Amino acid sequence: MIQKSERNDSPDAHQILAQSLKELADIKFALDQSTIVAITDQRGIINYVNDEFCRISKYSREELLGQDHRIVNSSYHSKDFIRDLWTTIASGKVWKGELRNRAKDGSIYWVDTTIVPFLTSEGKPYQYIAIRHDITQRKLAQEEISRQAALLDESHDAILVRELDETIVYWNRGAEVTYGWTAAEAIGKDARQLLFDDLPPEFEEARRELAETGQWRGELNQVTKDGRMIVVEGRWTLVRDDKNAPSQKLVVNTDITEEKRLQKELQHAAQLSLVGELAAGLAHEIKNPLAGIQGVVDILLRRRDANDPESEALRGVRNEVDRIDQIVRALLDRARPRVLATKPSSLTEVVRRAVNVARAQIFGGSEGGRIRVQFHPPDDPILLPIDAAQIEDAVLNLIINAIQASEDDGRVDVRIFRSPPDETADELDEVMIEVSDKGPGISEENLSRIFNPFFTTTKGGTGLGLPAVRRIVRAHSGRVGVKSVVGEGSTFTIHLPINNAEA
Ligand code: FAD
Repeated sequence: MIQKSERNDSPDAHQILAQSLKELADIKFALDQSTIVAITDQRGIINYVNDEFCRISKYSREELLGQDHRIVNSSYHSKDFIRDLWTTIASGKVWKGELRNRAKDGSIYWVDTTIVPFLTSEGKPYQYIAIRHDITQRKLAQEEISRQAALLDESHDAILVRELDETIVYWNRGAEVTYGWTAAEAIGKDARQLLFDDLPPEFEEARRELAETGQWRGELNQVTKDGRMIVVEGRWTLVRDDKNAPSQKLVVNTDITEEKRLQKELQHAAQLSLVGELAAGLAHEIKNPLAGIQGVVDILLRRRDANDPESEALRGVRNEVDRIDQIVRALLDRARPRVLATKPSSLTEVVRRAVNVARAQIFGGSEGGRIRVQFHPPDDPILLPIDAAQIEDAVLNLIINAIQASEDDGRVDVRIFRSPPDETADELDEVMIEVSDKGPGISEENLSRIFNPFFTTTKGGTGLGLPAVRRIVRAHSGRVGVKSVVGEGSTFTIHLPINNAEA
């Protein structure tokens, strides 16, 4: 800020004054040439403008003098912003800021502005000088970038811009949703560390291809902020600078995890139906010759004396043939999808039947005689429109698996409970049938495969039980969940939706 000097009439003072005035005139000339200048009185009334001001505002000098700056006000800045400008300069301090103004023809221009108050000897402003630079191009470019960024934010895809060393420099809203990291958290980080658990070998290959051809397209397994593994389809494009040198890469990633899951399920379904066809074919092919063998053995048995030593061997053959027949039937039963015959049934009764059959199997069998199957029925009966036989089959399957996984004196718990009613939740009410054991648990690797047809870790198991359980439950619009801790046990849960009208 500049203060008014005292008057001094000595000859030396005249010289100094003349020199100072010249210097001031030179400074003013230099300012006028390079900047937009306006001088106002303490109320803001304009009493000087330079040519640059007239050029940018498109007003003539005559139109501007005697007005205040509201003539160029574009109604963009808030009252608080203007109040801050005024309180700063009125208290004798310099104000700096960027102002958006409207020219006479309505066009918008931006000025980087410094307002310097000139103060009386009492420290009161008596005039203000505004010195400005035209920053319209930069501001319009910024506005355009913000507009484009807003458009990119509309996209559901994750859009990233990365330096060639993989530092993230742009992260759109879609990326925030896909990965869980906010732009503030992601920008400046190395994408290889942020988005991958272990960098797959394809990543380096993709970088090579991008350098050679300018683009790359492919799938990558990545990890989100909360540790979820996702599959993305990535499209990378090399961005070049004005000298055509590679500078950055634009990455557009689409989360295809769900699509992949559905694809896998379709493959499972196809595998299952193939199994069904194979089993039906097998049963057809085997059952006739089996019946033939059974008939011949029966004839041979009838022809022999009860004491004939060969009778014993023939009875053994007869038993083995019966066993093969049973296995073929069981395979056919498990693999062939059955039509759903639903009617309102008491879930407690259905599960109790499965528990009783399982208990009978324990006591009938040589192994697992001391394993206890504990049933915890719900307080109130639950009536659901289900195919009782199929649900019983599914529950029995889970209980038998749990028994097989348990130690000799182990215990299997079977519970039925209802999800607490929650009117705000999106999910429907459901009933859960839970079968848990305290066996060895299932490793994470096996957990992802246990519903695959033919996958089994049990000696003599067919690997068809769990796929069948899942098929039955899905046919009831439900789902099967599993939680397992190695060394502590496993819990399988059948979730069945409740149609409130019928529950
Ligand atoms: P106003 O009602 O004029 O002002 C808003 C608030 O500012 C008021 O509520 C009050 O708190 C405070 N205020 C206003 N006038 C005074 C005053 N005389 N003394 C103390 N406080 C006051 N505006 C632009 O839009 N673009 C510019 O380029 C620009 N350059 C300026 C350069 C100088 C040197 C000065 C002194 C002012 C400049 N202004 C500029 C501010 C301008 O004078 C107006 O205050 C502003 O345009 C807002 O007008 P308004 O009608 O929206 O609000």
